[in-house]
Amino acid sequence: MSDHQTSYTINSMLGRLYLKNKAFQSLDLEAQQSIIQDILKESYNSDVNIGEILSNECFSKYKETEEERTISTIFQICSYCTEVKDNVEDYGREYNRQGFCLDCANKVFSEDEIELERVDKQ
Ligand SMILES: [Zn+2]
Repeated sequence: MSDHQTSYTINSMLGRLYLKNKAFQSLDLEAQQSIIQDILKESYNSDVNIGEILSNECFSKYKETEEERTISTIFQICSYCTEVKDNVEDYGREYNRQGFCLDCANKVFSEDEIELERVDKQ
């Protein structure tokens, strides 16, 4: 059974660092991705759910923000294979979104579902 509380705690910290403290925005994308991957690696010490860590759940706490992307898509790290990819897109609705790279989206969804589940780009 996965440790949901730890997953959401890490997700919440990432949301706070990104939106409130703007801790990542001064770094280039590669440096940002390296930090996120280190955090994911450390989180494996618990039985975490990577999809929950990389979700957009955390942004629901900041009502003044327009940010709707998942952590996954912001940092271009697939929530399924956890690799850095340049084609990570969000799928799903509201706060139940997940960012997948195209390869993983093809594994998770059927061809019809991909279009159906893809979140329209803002
Ligand atoms: Zn992937």
